[in-house]
Amino acid sequence: MTASLVEEENNRTVSVLLSVPPSRLYDYAVPPGINVLPGDIVDVPLGKRRVLGVVWGPGSRLRPSIKIKPLLGKRQMTGLSLELSRLVDWVANYYLAPPGLVLRMVLSTPSALQERKPLKGYRDSGSRPQRITPQRARVFEVLSKCGPCVLGDIVRSANVSPGVVKQLENEGHLVVSDIQLQPESEPPNPDYQVSQLSPDQERSAEVLCRAVTDRKSGVKLLDGVTGAGKTEVYFEAIAAAIRREGQALVLIPEIALTEDWIRRFQGRFGVRPWAWHSEIGLTTRRETWRQANSSSPGVFVGTRSALFLPFQKLGLIIVDEEHDPSYKQEDGVVYNARDVAIMRGRFASCPVILVSATPSLETHHNVEVGRYEKLSLPRRFGLSSLPDIEAIDMRVNPPVAGRWISPRLDQVLRQTMQEGSQTLLFLNRRGYAPLTLCGACGFRIECKSCSAWLVEHRESSLLTCHHCGHQEIRPKCCPRCAALDSMVACGPGVERLAEEVNKFVPEARVRLMTSDTIKSGGEAKVLVQDMLAGNIDILIGTQMVTKGFHFPSLTLVGVIDADLGLSGGNLRAGERSMQLLSQVSGRAGRENKSGRAILQTYVPEHPIMAALIQGDRDKFVREELEARRQAGMPPFNRLVGMIVASASQQYAFEVARLLVRKAPVVSGFEIFGPAPAPIALLRGKYRFRILVRTPRKYGLQALLRSWLDRLDWSKEVSVKVDVDPYSFT
Ligand SMILES: [Zn+2]
Ligand SMILES: [Zn+2]
Repeated sequence: MTASLVEEENNRTVSVLLSVPPSRLYDYAVPPGINVLPGDIVDVPLGKRRVLGVVWGPGSRLRPSIKIKPLLGKRQMTGLSLELSRLVDWVANYYLAPPGLVLRMVLSTPSALQERKPLKGYRDSGSRPQRITPQRARVFEVLSKCGPCVLGDIVRSANVSPGVVKQLENEGHLVVSDIQLQPESEPPNPDYQVSQLSPDQERSAEVLCRAVTDRKSGVKLLDGVTGAGKTEVYFEAIAAAIRREGQALVLIPEIALTEDWIRRFQGRFGVRPWAWHSEIGLTTRRETWRQANSSSPGVFVGTRSALFLPFQKLGLIIVDEEHDPSYKQEDGVVYNARDVAIMRGRFASCPVILVSATPSLETHHNVEVGRYEKLSLPRRFGLSSLPDIEAIDMRVNPPVAGRWISPRLDQVLRQTMQEGSQTLLFLNRRGYAPLTLCGACGFRIECKSCSAWLVEHRESSLLTCHHCGHQEIRPKCCPRCAALDSMVACGPGVERLAEEVNKFVPEARVRLMTSDTIKSGGEAKVLVQDMLAGNIDILIGTQMVTKGFHFPSLTLVGVIDADLGLSGGNLRAGERSMQLLSQVSGRAGRENKSGRAILQTYVPEHPIMAALIQGDRDKFVREELEARRQAGMPPFNRLVGMIVASASQQYAFEVARLLVRKAPVVSGFEIFGPAPAPIALLRGKYRFRILVRTPRKYGLQALLRSWLDRLDWSKEVSVKVDVDPYSFT
């Protein structure tokens, strides 16, 4: 090597994306003896700290100057794939987030970035104690079956306390030893239990499998009625990905659904998939991350953050229940996981399958204009048929005073119980009553930090704010007029509905399913088992029950207030209502028992009720899309929501006004506001909304960035930018 080449090598700089603020690219020199490539995970100095970053490309300056510090070292592991780096850049650019903040979601598992250390475990020394208790016998059995194990695994598998193991060690029957690193997990077996598919399912499965086998990127919509067997169809696409030795990612909207999904997966493929969500333990988290960052085949199921796992051989992405609003992340980097999944599929050149019984209007539109290919499953699988949907006109047949269940629903509910079937009562309101007011002076109890009523929860005997979590004891007298015992609960929540059922149908075994009663995947699993075992007659739930659960003996769904989602008048109210009501109705009659859904409504003539009763979803979709087109709303134009918030109402308003005053003046760029947000006060911050609308094909991000970067405002004011907003509160 000539001298000049050596010099050049020594002077090499790279740009590194930092995973901590300022979260952007910095140049570092590469010390001699270290060889780095784009995607490599490195430690670099930042001020006095040592921080984590990823090599993004060549340095921006040709020759390192004195100021450029050398990087400290490279992590000995596979670096980020090019497709993932491109995804990070895309998300940062599209959603106007600092790139390092997006990278942070990728490097979210610090322990996975450490070098593997040998684990300390126990092995059988060969000697046996004189007294062998059943517990001790189980420990030896586990060790003879599995070889040396870590303490936690022995305790779990043998169902003994750690003391039993320690005692055996003290007596010399077990010895501590380094054990083999996490054994490679068994890959899923695509032929383990092949499902019997209907001709409809078969056709769709074939198209999906071909896309996987040909590694054709592009989006497919699997649009099938509830109970059509969509999961079985996309399982075939997963099987195809496994046969190609690739990785498959399945996104599901809710942690509560994971266990049920895993059970079905295991039945089909013989092993558990790798799970990824906020409830998994550190070890699983680390191993799942490492497994993704390897080239072995595997199937990963998780909530939206699983999208940022470092897959090396991604061959398929599935977004189940693609319409679900949980895919929208509202804090930190504000993104829509469904849309990011589509981009990841594009960068990784693999197919993306969107799955839903009630696809979002955006997705319908993308099918219409030919961007996505639609596969339909118009019929339920096997002998089951779609539920009959009937509306009860509450103006004509109201419930008796003090009740929320109309006589008609009451009658069908009793009949269902006599037949030994299960009922689901749906009311999308947590707690006992949404409002507590004074019967004497009309005073309403509101949250002190939010513009919202406090919701009474009888289970905890507290009034709770559903926005900030504030809780207080229900006052005995009115805080305003001091009248004693004058506070009245107004309107029903699920707890109040349960009280009504317990009073009028005392023989029914009733269970609640809301985010207050089901806080973890484990609790959801117990409830699902109780439903399947027939230990519950009437399940009362909020929107949590609408999400993909499969209860074969559930034949009646009663919707207590079908009009609840129609008010509020935001862009998606109609679409969301339609999705919720068809999803919840779809829980009825899933196997050979026929199902029925009863909607209690004051507006039976509303287009949504009409579409549900006639089973004509597509008519509703056409009309809703036409209305959006005429109003110039998404998916025909693009929206960006901005929330300007501050503890000082005046500051917030001034910054909001400044933003509007300095907004770009170019054709096609429209700005609305500022206006107080529907929740004008949240967690003690005053909020103003600004809405930007542009045509779809538009250099929106560059325009937004140049507008916002030019302006400066007090640190006491925050501006949240929400590209393609979902919530308008
Ligand atoms: Zn009062
Ligand atoms: Zn509050």
